[in-house]
Amino acid sequence: MQDRPLVLPHVFHRAEQLFGHKEIVTATAGAEQRTTIAEWAGRVRRLATALDRLGISADGRVATFSWNHAAHLELYMAAPCTGRVLHTLNIRLFPEQLSYIVNHAEDEIIFVDRSLLPLLWPLTDKMDTVKHFVVNDDGADADIPDDPRILDYERLLAESEPYQGRFVVEDENSAAAMCYTSGTTGNPKGVVYSHRSSVLHSLISLTADGVALSERDVVMPIVPMFHANAWGLPYGCLLAGSSMVFPGPNMTPRAILELLAKHRVTVTGGVPTIWMGALPMLEQFDLSALRTVLCGGSAAPKSLSEAFREKLGIPMLHAWGMTETSPIATMSTPRSQHDPLSEDERADVRARQGQAVPLVELRLVDPETGDELPWDDQHTGEIQAAGPWIAKEYYRGEGGGAQFTEDGWLRTGDVAAADRYGFVRLVDRTKDLVKSGGEWISSVDLENEIMSHPKIAEAAVIAIPHERWVERPIACVVVKPGETLTSAEVLDYLRPRVAKWWLPDAVEFIEEVPKTSVGKFSKKTLRDKFAGYKLPGAEG
Ligand code: AMP
Repeated sequence: MQDRPLVLPHVFHRAEQLFGHKEIVTATAGAEQRTTIAEWAGRVRRLATALDRLGISADGRVATFSWNHAAHLELYMAAPCTGRVLHTLNIRLFPEQLSYIVNHAEDEIIFVDRSLLPLLWPLTDKMDTVKHFVVNDDGADADIPDDPRILDYERLLAESEPYQGRFVVEDENSAAAMCYTSGTTGNPKGVVYSHRSSVLHSLISLTADGVALSERDVVMPIVPMFHANAWGLPYGCLLAGSSMVFPGPNMTPRAILELLAKHRVTVTGGVPTIWMGALPMLEQFDLSALRTVLCGGSAAPKSLSEAFREKLGIPMLHAWGMTETSPIATMSTPRSQHDPLSEDERADVRARQGQAVPLVELRLVDPETGDELPWDDQHTGEIQAAGPWIAKEYYRGEGGGAQFTEDGWLRTGDVAAADRYGFVRLVDRTKDLVKSGGEWISSVDLENEIMSHPKIAEAAVIAIPHERWVERPIACVVVKPGETLTSAEVLDYLRPRVAKWWLPDAVEFIEEVPKTSVGKFSKKTLRDKFAGYKLPGAEG
């Protein structure tokens, strides 16, 4: 057989050649922007020569600081098709993390939305390698500083000739894109996606027991394009020929539901927090075209999925994965063995994270002994993953390989059981993090800030389930002998030190932080102690 490389130029040329008539819609602050794949492809070609003209290195990192929109999709192709590496920056990171990441990746150029420029610009003097900032004017009224490093996206395209002929990337294992994750302790770590991994991963969303993307679909990725390539949906759509709708900066539940209804979207995907926000107004919109609501990034609760089923007739399609797994690793599509089950039992299956998708291998491992555990739904252990779109290391070897086993599997830090069909049910996490609204809060960083308070002896932060944000942090605090302290004082102390959304929802005073046999904080014991804890002001 021919040894043809699996590279993103194939996805681009296929879309350009076969699906030029299909539409891409972007919601903006002003009028909706409509374009076709043919027009989009022409702009990708201009962007390709623009990157050359600007002197971006042959394998240079091309960063984006953007919402979900058609211009972002142009970069999704122009960077990798010219051999460069698309680096999507998470717009919700703290300033220090952001400048750290840009420097670590040695980004040479950042494409930034005008609405996001005020977040980025104050940091630019700390970004040593960036030569150009290209502003995509999304209609926001943010000031554009007068600086020679700033260029206008539309002007740049207008002044660039379209690249002629076919894009060529010979090595399928070369880097196509990268994304940093803060889902580990320490500094954010870079995960590099290759052309091969990106192409193979995109195919998964076209499989029947996956999202089953087809040419007939109208797909709206709500999951950010800066988060693990929006779960591979944009590349999947280009491969399948689906029409696309991008929500732009307005992520309110009403705006999202309006778009889903207006464009008769058939497939969409986002974190549970998005769907919880949308739930109360679902019935106000005609969502009859919708066939799949993909939900992942955090556990999709049974009650949420059932509420969707009751109101729309379609439950959610639950998926699990992580930045390191590209991200799709499991999907909870119902199988024939579930047919005899009652509706309620099927809902329990859907609340599971699901079965490994083709080409992904999973195993459950006892964290103490390293032994592989049986899939009997009783034994729980860490999930380890292997496959052609699972990371084998972090960029520049960060983390020293601690996250990978000797035989090359990824330690996910998620603890689960699996039934005999391999339907995974996540029960816990070994990583010391809280996932709030789809983004990570480091409990270790929060603890260090709290413990710097002169009256505090020790403190541990744990995640408590939350109806809207899925998880929120609470601080368990031990006050030094002879001292007194109130929750308000602890929170006031933290306020200037951490991002607002990191502030614990509650402070609980305890006698002592429980310890493991080796003297570490036993978060598990604490979590057991606070099981069923009701957060102040929580709805449920
Ligand atoms: P990230 O790399 O930021 O996408 O985060 C990946 C992590 O999010 C996983 O390791 C899990 O801890 C969590 N996660 C993702 N999807 C799910 C899910 N369906 N259910 C529970 N946790 C999830």
